Amino acid sequence: MARTAKPYNHYKGVPELVGDPGQKKKKPHLMAVVDEDSCTGCEVCIPFCPVDCIETVDPEKYGIPIPPVQVRFDECIGCQICARVCTKLTWDAIRMLPMAEFEAVYEIPIS
Ligand code: SF4
Ligand code: SF4
Repeated sequence: MARTAKPYNHYKGVPELVGDPGQKKKKPHLMAVVDEDSCTGCEVCIPFCPVDCIETVDPEKYGIPIPPVQVRFDECIGCQICARVCTKLTWDAIRMLPMAEFEAVYEIPIS
């Protein structure tokens, strides 16, 4: 008798959507950085962020109808959920940088 192959679950590993967002309690080890040139502005990542710190860029910055998103760096807890969601469901436009590298490159101190 032929065995039936289990269907591939593309959504395995995609986190649950967040109910009530929390808040940062300590300085994270990683920082989420959106590549605004690659981001499609689909906003799929926004409802997955556990601290609700992803927002759309001011549309006037690029003058396009669907702007990319950006992370409010001082609120990010470095959980990597947005990066996983973007990679898995959409476009792979978020990089997780080690905090020391982020602070050196962007010259933004995080507490
Ligand atoms: S899921 Fe990815 S492509 Fe979509 S808005 Fe978020 S960062 Fe941009
Ligand atoms: S890593 Fe992404 S999902 Fe996690 S807190 Fe930072 S912006 Fe939000």
